[in-house]
Amino acid sequence: MGESKKIILTGDRPTGKLHVGHYVGSLRQRVELQNSGSFDEIYIMIADAQALTDNADNPEKVRQNIIEVALDYLSCGLDPAKSTLFIQSQVPELTEMSFYYMNLVTVSRLQRNPTVKNEIKLRNFETSIPVGFFTYPISQAADITAFKATTVPVGDDQLPMIEQTREIVRSFNHIYDEVLVEPEALIPQNESCRRLPGIDGNAKMSKSLGNCIYLSDTPEDVRKKIMSMYTDPNHIRVQDPGRVEGNPVFVYLDAFCRDEHFAKFWPEYHNLDEVKDHYTRGGLGDVKVKKFLNEVMQAELEPIRERRKAYEKNIPEVYRILREGSVKAEKKAAVTLAEMKAAMKINYFDDQELIAAQAQRFGENV
Ligand code: ATP
Ligand code: MG
Repeated sequence: MGESKKIILTGDRPTGKLHVGHYVGSLRQRVELQNSGSFDEIYIMIADAQALTDNADNPEKVRQNIIEVALDYLSCGLDPAKSTLFIQSQVPELTEMSFYYMNLVTVSRLQRNPTVKNEIKLRNFETSIPVGFFTYPISQAADITAFKATTVPVGDDQLPMIEQTREIVRSFNHIYDEVLVEPEALIPQNESCRRLPGIDGNAKMSKSLGNCIYLSDTPEDVRKKIMSMYTDPNHIRVQDPGRVEGNPVFVYLDAFCRDEHFAKFWPEYHNLDEVKDHYTRGGLGDVKVKKFLNEVMQAELEPIRERRKAYEKNIPEVYRILREGSVKAEKKAAVTLAEMKAAMKINYFDDQELIAAQAQRFGENV
């Protein structure tokens, strides 16, 4: 049956527009995997229900960002003919699954999740953590398993969620029946792409931290942000030796630049190692490096901007794509949920054997 299929599920929270961290961490890879043709099914989810777990009082924000994320997807080259794009809340089966998975996870297990711990701190929840937010790793397990996903392309902050999902799958299959599939995270091979830092030097570019270069930024915005980027604070004069490790400008170059960019934009060097050597020795100023980074990023973002313009002219079509995708996603999730309910023995009305057996049992008492 579905067991040997290769299936992708991944997604993003509609809490803002997507940024270049999303792009190198997950989006770019999704498009490559989509176009490789080696996956049987691909589901890309806009996680609005998850976004509400820490934005319950701001539904308008979530609503407005659905279309932003959808436009970002389509402009990066996700193709609705090959990938099912859908909205989480429109697949109610996911909520139902989460409810059953909650029985398989302990409070202390959730408390150990390092990403959630960190996010709780960032949001200053202290002791008033919404229960929905606290349990979102369980809801994420439902999102992944509903589609029997084998592969989840994500940035490295998501590894604890995939591990939690795998535990739920093992536990469910062990207690009930072999219904669910254990997924694997697919994180970028290039280390700089796994968690792209913010332009302010913060360890993660994040919508919630406001330190982002957005895929939809204008060329001028991108240039300004790059020119104002945090670098090595000890690299004050051009002749000073500089540090490339942890220096956002170099992390971005690691993530974006390819050797052919040098011939095109900076023929004094042949590759990034030469630039890094020069910067480390001293004698290479930040401005020159930033100008090159700007050329490289503009080249990568230009085709994305062009595709975006085309979709922006046809917004109703974008909603139609999401609607069609949501219907398709719900069909698939419903099949998995029915299998789960049968395994959990809560499929009373579908089970003629049960009804007959009970009839017999009570009949015998007469
Ligand atoms: P929020 O602050 O609302 O959580 P976010 O910017 O963290 O937003 P998410 O929607 O939570 O974005 O993440 C979507 C996907 O993008 C995940 O796979 C995540 O690992 C990846 N991702 C997010 N930020 C980065 C980053 N800075 N570098 C690499 N991958 C990232
Ligand atoms: Mg996040």
